[in-house]
Order: sequence, then C-alpha cells, then structure tokens
Amino acid sequence: MHAVRSNRPLKLMLSFVAVATVSGCSRGPSPPTAALASFSGDRLLDHIRRLSSDEFEGRGPGSKGEQLTIKYLQDQYRSAGLEPGNPDGTYLQSVPLVGITPDSGMKLTLTGHGKTLEPKFQDDFVAWSKRVTDTSAIDADMVFVGYAVQAPEFQWDDFKGTDVKGKYLVVLVNDPPVPDPADPSKLDPKIFGGPAMTYYGRWTYKFEKAAQMGAAGCVIIHQTDRAGYPWEVVRNSWSGTQFDLATPDKNMGRLAVESWITSDFAAKLFRAAGQDLDKLIQAASRSDFKPVPLGMHAKLTIHNSLQTIDSHNVIAKLTGSDPALKNSYVIYTAHWDHFGIGPEVNGDKIYHGAVDNASGTAALLEMARAYKALSTPPRRTILFLSVTAEEQGLLGSQYYVEHPPYPLARTALDINMDGMNVSGRTQDIVQIGRGVSTLDDVVEAVAAEQGRVVKLDPEPEKGFYYRSDHFEFAKNGIPAFDPDEGVDFIGRPAGWGLEERRKYTAERYHKPADKIQPDWDMSGAVQDSQLYFLVGYRVANDSRMPEWKPGAEFKAIRDASLKAAGTAP
Ligand SMILES: [Zn+2]
Repeated sequence: MHAVRSNRPLKLMLSFVAVATVSGCSRGPSPPTAALASFSGDRLLDHIRRLSSDEFEGRGPGSKGEQLTIKYLQDQYRSAGLEPGNPDGTYLQSVPLVGITPDSGMKLTLTGHGKTLEPKFQDDFVAWSKRVTDTSAIDADMVFVGYAVQAPEFQWDDFKGTDVKGKYLVVLVNDPPVPDPADPSKLDPKIFGGPAMTYYGRWTYKFEKAAQMGAAGCVIIHQTDRAGYPWEVVRNSWSGTQFDLATPDKNMGRLAVESWITSDFAAKLFRAAGQDLDKLIQAASRSDFKPVPLGMHAKLTIHNSLQTIDSHNVIAKLTGSDPALKNSYVIYTAHWDHFGIGPEVNGDKIYHGAVDNASGTAALLEMARAYKALSTPPRRTILFLSVTAEEQGLLGSQYYVEHPPYPLARTALDINMDGMNVSGRTQDIVQIGRGVSTLDDVVEAVAAEQGRVVKLDPEPEKGFYYRSDHFEFAKNGIPAFDPDEGVDFIGRPAGWGLEERRKYTAERYHKPADKIQPDWDMSGAVQDSQLYFLVGYRVANDSRMPEWKPGAEFKAIRDASLKAAGTAP
C-alpha cells in the first residue's frame, strides 16, 4: 500500500473552502440490501490466502507470479459473470515496462579531507538510475542543499543561485520543518502545509528538482521519522529491478544516479567532511539556508541489465442500466502487484504482500461480485481495474490514464483500495485528501448510515495522498476517493488502532513478513467494502458527477477536460 514511490510532480493544495454542495440530484435508488449483505470476510480471506501464497511468488510484474495473478483475476471475473473490461473484448490491458536491474556489486567511493569512505550497498546506501542505458556513472563533487526546495509561493529557495551543474547533491527528505512563530513547538501552518507533507517533501520531488538544476546525481539522507518508513523499506524498494513505463526518450532527462544513504552513514560522511550534520539540518529549516560544498568527491558506476516486460492491468466491467449514463464510469482500483522475490529477511525472500495489496485486490473481486449480484445494475457503468506496478511508482494506473479505454472526461470517480483493514470494525473511516470535492458529502452520508464518522488523515506528514493509484486519476482531474481504515476500533482502547498501524509499518510493510496473521479480523474489511460499495453506487446512480471544490488543485484540469469533451454527463 501507499507506494513509497510515485513519480508525479504535482503539489496538492488542500483547500478547505466551505461551499454549498449540490446533492439535490441524487436519485436515491432503493437500497441494494442483498448485495450489501453478501460481502463475505471468509471469501476475502480466501482470495488473500491464494494471492499471498508462496506459489504466487510475491506478484512481481513480469514474473511467474504475474502470470498466476492475472489468470486468477480473470478466472474470478469470468466465473462471477463480469464482462471483459477492455473494449477489445479481453480482460487485459498490456502495460509495456522497462526493467532496469542495477549490479548489486556497485561500489560508491567518497574521498576528501584526506579520507576515503566506502559505504556498503544495501547496508549504507542504495543507488540506481532510471536512464535506460547499460552504464550510468557519476564522478562529482558533493554539495549539501538542505531540502532542495524551490517554492516561490513561500519565498523559499534552498539553492540561492548556486550552480550545482554536474554535482552530486545531498538532500534531506520531507518538507523544511518551519516552526510556528506563535508556538515554536508546532509547525507553521502557513508554510509547507504545516504538519501535512506537501509534494515538496516527497523524495520524487527531490530527484526531479536535482535533475532540473542540472545535477549529476542526488542522494537523500534517510531519516525514519521524517520519511515515514524505516531504512529496510528504502533498501527493499530499490535493491532489485526498477521498472518504468517504456518512454521514447529512454529517461535521459533523469539523473545519472538517484540514491539514498542511511542517517548513520550520513553522520559519518559529514564528520569526514568536517561538518556537523545536526547543525546543518537545523540551518536547513530556515529560509536563509545556503548550499554547503562538502569538499568530498563521489565516484560510482552502475552497470544495468535491461529487459522489456509486457505487464498487464486487468479490467472487468458491469455495463450501466441507464441508456445515456452507461457511457460514463465509476472505477474501482486496486493494485495487484507487489515486490516479487527480493532480499531475504528472517529466512524469507518472498514479498507476500498480504495486506499490500492482496487485501485490496480481494476486496475488488468481492466488490465486482457484489455489484453483479444487484437485480439492476447502477445507471453508470462500473469498471473494476486491477493495476500493475504500483509499487514501482504507480505505473499501471499512469498507463491507464495515459491510454484510457474509456474517456476520462466521462469518468465520474475513482475509488482506490490499497491495504484493507484486517483488525476489526471501526467507528470511523479515514478519507485521505478530504476537503477538496463534493465527494465528501457522499462519503459522509454513507458513513453516517453505517453509524460511523469520517476523519481526516491521522498521519498527514506521510504524504499518503501522493502514494497510491488514485493520485494518477486525481492529477488527471478525476475526483478520487482514497479511503484508509479507521483508527477508532470497536471494543479497543483509544490509540490501539494507531499502535497497530505503527507496528505494521515497522514490522511488515514492504517486507516478506507482510503475511496473513492469526489474529486477523476481516469484519472491518467487510464494513469498509460496504462503505466503498455504497459510495460508488450512489455516484453511479446520480446524474451529477462529483465536482472539485473551488480552489482545489485539480479543478482546472477537470474543467478543461470536460470542456474539451463538450460534455458533463
Ligand atoms: Zn506497497
């Protein structure tokens, strides 16, 4: 869930503008009681057991695990009576990927101030190149550039005109933490979203900015608290094959080397350079920060083996019942892929991805089955889309929106399921990116019917909104529902839910240990699936599509898209 990677250079401006919302057009179809009651925790668990089994080898794109997974999904859709979702009459959309596998014997050598440092690959650093070439190398001076942020709207520029062409930039992850002048124990809400991570904080932004500034390479200092995930996640995500969509320019506009180092190694490096890392981190949280040349020189050559892979999105369809509205769409997405086989941890090298995202994939299958159980399909057409290569940077969903089989202007909504709740029923539900569209009202109404409340993201500092497939839809103007499990679990003390989350992130997230646990309780996944069902069902029966609120970041894109299509179904 929540890909550590995501490639998109957009910044979300949450705007909590109060507006009168339009919901008067809701047709209020009779409640789909039987379909709702048919959601089964046992069936969800059966799907998860199969998808996360050793046999499926961690569902790596292009692997035997992919073949088994896409066959399983097609078999399920076929037997449930869902139509093939690709207009070519199949359930598959081919997604051409290029796989770049860096040589794990790579040696990074850092020299300067009479010292030589040779960090160990995977233990101290990871590095790769997204350039589609056999060899990619740097031979460059190192410059610390703080958070590498240029944000004119906040009068913030970490570069201050410094020429960093050809350099190897050392940067910090996350937004600059600027204290609130009124209460220095808090972050200033007027800059970089306060406690919420903005796109400037994402690691993708750092690499994009470094490339834009003409740097040769960039290395991010990993800090667990500031990144939102431990070093193992960084290491496991970037040690193996890196996938990308096969693009015409072979990614030559990207950096020669993208990399991370541990905070321990960074401390060593800065000591060798005669610098105090903690002091520089302090300095970087101020807008008067200036880049600091470290007097260290970096050499690294990465040998790549290249492969092209035909991976797949799987699409099933339930055609709408309204003669006009059936040419518009509600999409449910869940990524089927995970990391396949990777570095061994505690004797296991299969990245099972039971929560991430066998669980969402299972919920998607169960969702399709429930929709098919309706006596009359909803007015709009429903698409069930299992996307590939989410863990590689939302690639399957990016490919879908760049090659949409159905017009994006007539796509009313995406509902994304990435990591289902396996810890029991909750009194609340979290809506990531709440406050930007009229969808809020639908979610709130459905939650209220379930006796639940809608909450804001309890971990806004982690930038989840940029980290799963709905983001590809949102940035193309399609209102998106990115739900997350509640935090207030029925029959559990306050704080229990967040503690469970913390444990999952520390112990299992993106590790082979993401497996079915004996204490799983699927009743929460059923409760959440029913909520997602009802949200999609309402939108699919409403003549009006959800709309972005004034000031929302993607409103202009949507308006242009609707205008170009000359339609507002
Ligand atoms: Zn993931």
